[in-house]
Amino acid sequence: MVFDSIAEPGHEQVSYFSDPETGLQAIVAIHDTSLGPSLGGTRILDYESEDAALTDVLRLSEAMTYKAAAADLALGGGKAVIVGDPAEVKTEDALEAYGRAVDCLGGRYITSVDINSGAEEMDIVARETDHVVGGSDGLGNPSEVTAHGVFSGIRSCAEHVYGTDSAGDLDVVVQGLGKVGHLLAEELLEHGASVTISDVNRDAIDEFTATHDVDVVAPDSVYEQPCDVFAPCAIGGVVNDETIDQLECDIIAGSANNVLAERRHADELAARDILYAPDYVINAGGLITVGKEHLGGTYDEAYAEAEAIGDRLGEMVDRAETDDCTVLDAADAYARERIDASETVTPALPSN
Ligand code: NAD
Repeated sequence: MVFDSIAEPGHEQVSYFSDPETGLQAIVAIHDTSLGPSLGGTRILDYESEDAALTDVLRLSEAMTYKAAAADLALGGGKAVIVGDPAEVKTEDALEAYGRAVDCLGGRYITSVDINSGAEEMDIVARETDHVVGGSDGLGNPSEVTAHGVFSGIRSCAEHVYGTDSAGDLDVVVQGLGKVGHLLAEELLEHGASVTISDVNRDAIDEFTATHDVDVVAPDSVYEQPCDVFAPCAIGGVVNDETIDQLECDIIAGSANNVLAERRHADELAARDILYAPDYVINAGGLITVGKEHLGGTYDEAYAEAEAIGDRLGEMVDRAETDDCTVLDAADAYARERIDASETVTPALPSN
C-alpha cells in the first residue's frame, strides 16, 4: 500500500520511526532531492488514522519540492509528521528521539517548524541533530519575509492587470490578521493602499483598527467585498465552489497555503478573469528564510530574495499567457524544468 502511494508522486523515501520508550511515532517523507537536501517542517497532529498521517506527509512533502524549486532554492522537498495529541506527544524525550530519527537520515532531510512545532521544539530536536533549522538561534522572523514576498507578488500582479505596480492605487482585502496578515496590511498601508481587514478573532481586529486606518468586513462577507486584490492570509480552501461566484476581485494573492479547494478552481478563476498567484510561489518567504539559515546567509539576504518573488511570479504570468494555461500550470512547469535540468546533487540512495 505504501509503495503504491509513493510511486505516482515519485517520492524517494518514506521512513517510519517508532520509539516505544518515549511513545514517538513519526513519518518522514523525502519527495525529491534533485536540487538539494529535502527541507520541510515537522507537523505534530492527532491524525484520525495512520493513513491520514501518511496521506498528509506525502502531499506536503511533494508540495515542498515544487515550492523550493519555484523559489530558485538549492533544496528539495520533504516533510515530517509526528502522530499524536501535541499535548501528550511533545515531551522532551520524544522530541530528542525525533532528533535522532532525523539525524539518522544523514542530512537528506532537514527539519523545521510547522503546525504545533515552533522554535522551542526545534531547539530540543537540535540537541540530537544538526539537520534542523528554525530554532531560537535562527535568522529571524520568517513571517516578516513571507509578508514582504506576498507584497512583492501583489505588486507584480497589479503591474500585469493594471499596468502599474504602485500599491498606492490598490484596494486590498486582507483575510486573516495573524503573523503574516498584519504585517502585509501594514506594508500595504505604508505604500498608500486602501486596506480592508477581516478576521474571526475580534481582538485581532480591535487591536489593528486602534492604530491603523482600515475598513473592516465580517468574515462571512469577505468574499463578496469588492476590491482589486483579495489576499487570503488565514486558512486553506477559501476558493471553493461556494465562494468562487461571490468573488469581486481582479487578483487573488496572499500567504495562505492551499488556497484552492481543488486544482480545477485555478481554471475556473482564469475563466472569470481573476489572476491567481499560486500560493506556493507567493508565500515562499518563510522557506527562503529557513533555507538561507541552512545554506548559509543572512536575514537581509532572505528579505531581498523574497523581493524577487514578484519578478519570478511576473515571468510565470507572462508564460501562462504565452502558453495559454493557468499561472498555476506555468508555475508547476517552471519548477519541473528546474528539477529536471538539475544534476542530482544528493544521491537518492547511499552508494555504499
Ligand atoms: P496565524 O495563525 O498567525 O494567523 C492566522 C489568522 O487568521 C489568525 O488571526 C486567525 O484568527 C485568522 N483566521 C482563522 N480563520 C479565519 C477565517 N475563517 N476568516 C478570517 N480569519 C481567520 O498564521 P500565519 O502564520 O499568519 O499564516 C497565515 C497563513 O499563511 C497560513 O495559511 C499559513 O499556512 C500560511 N503561511 C505562513 C507562513 C509564515 O511565514 N508564517 C509562510 C507560508 C505560509
